Amino acid sequence: MTIQLITVLGATGSIGTNTLDVVAMHPQRYRVFALAAHSQVDKLFAQCLQHKPRYAVLIDPQAASRLRKLLAEAGSDTQVLQGEAALAEVSTASEVDMVMAAIVGAAGLRPTLAAARAGKRILLANKESLVVAGDLFMHAVRESGATLLPVDSEHNALFQALPAGFDGDLAAAGVVELILTASGGPFRHHTLEQLQHVTAEDACKHPNWVMGRKISVDSASLMNKGLEVIEAHWLFNTPAEQIKVVVHPQSVIHSMVRYHDGSILAQLGSPDMRTPIAYAMAWPQRIAAPVQALDFLTMGALTFEAPDLQRFPCLKLAFDCLKAGGDASAVMNAANEVAVASFLAGRIGFLQIPQLIERALSHSDLSLSSDLDCLLAKDAAARALVSGWVPA
Ligand code: NAD
Ligand code: MG
Repeated sequence: MTIQLITVLGATGSIGTNTLDVVAMHPQRYRVFALAAHSQVDKLFAQCLQHKPRYAVLIDPQAASRLRKLLAEAGSDTQVLQGEAALAEVSTASEVDMVMAAIVGAAGLRPTLAAARAGKRILLANKESLVVAGDLFMHAVRESGATLLPVDSEHNALFQALPAGFDGDLAAAGVVELILTASGGPFRHHTLEQLQHVTAEDACKHPNWVMGRKISVDSASLMNKGLEVIEAHWLFNTPAEQIKVVVHPQSVIHSMVRYHDGSILAQLGSPDMRTPIAYAMAWPQRIAAPVQALDFLTMGALTFEAPDLQRFPCLKLAFDCLKAGGDASAVMNAANEVAVASFLAGRIGFLQIPQLIERALSHSDLSLSSDLDCLLAKDAAARALVSGWVPA
């Protein structure tokens, strides 16, 4: 087997480190071409010493000079690049076989789209790319013949439960609907009154998954599930009406496909992202991943309930934006990113997140942008609008 070269965007994050765990288990199969992150020098330095990539990329200039110095002192051959353009360079280089897209937020869009245009195999964790630019992105994938493999656990489960070679024709495949499972997050039992007083720390204590802070808040507000509904729409060519969400607090069933004949196919496993990462890396084969086996005899009951859209209006907002089409999802995402950052900084309360998003939607032009620059200008305008409403 020839060794596959991988670029990891967002290497220092939760998905990035889990990816490198899988890579480290299979040195005969994978080698790291480039590791990219925003500014976490020490972590990226340690990763460079272990994985010996050809390139390391940092966005922050001071962080990049520090990394350059540290690597030179350690006698490393890794070259340090700096800035956004370098993200696209290491994602499109001809030697690269696959790109793990694990930058958080719309910041991941440009390099992930560049990898799509270059026809790479894309392991997609950065769901915001599809939420912001689903149309453009899927068009680029089709034009270039890129291979798009979902890493998000729900979509990875759906991908596994759909027929092999599924081409987006639900009726031909006998599919009735996609059922996304949601853990319900840390505030599943909170009343609206209690939700008024929750803090960033409370939101980041997820019951089943250890994740970055932004996606942890999204999980707590159910916006993460909303983003995933939109992600499923683009990945599997499925209209909003055929996507259902069910709260399943144990996160053992990662999602399901309901077929016309009454069958429901599900993918189950321990809640550990290294399973979907390994699946996406090796597809259509399977490789070992360093995860705990699921034990049916000790795991207890699996339960299901309906999501509460009154307490968690972000999920409804996402469904509405998907149905509205145009750039509604992009505006929603931009507003959400600013609102979540403001909540994490302690500047707004948890319940203000959906309020700010709704307000941004009602103040923005939601017609479909014709190209990426136009779309990114709209994203920037929505961010500026919401930033202006947040107390300093
Ligand atoms: P994280 O916050 O742990 O890591 C984010 C990574 O992105 C870091 O390496 C950071 O340096 C990098 N980054 C941030 N801003 C950047 C920028 N402007 N330019 C370049 N790099 C930048 O986040 P995470 O939890 O690993 O999530 C990453 C993505 O994967 C998100 O889109 C998230 O929705 C998705 N995802 C995560 C999980 C999970 O379990 N963590 C599950 C499913 C999907
Ligand atoms: Mg998910």
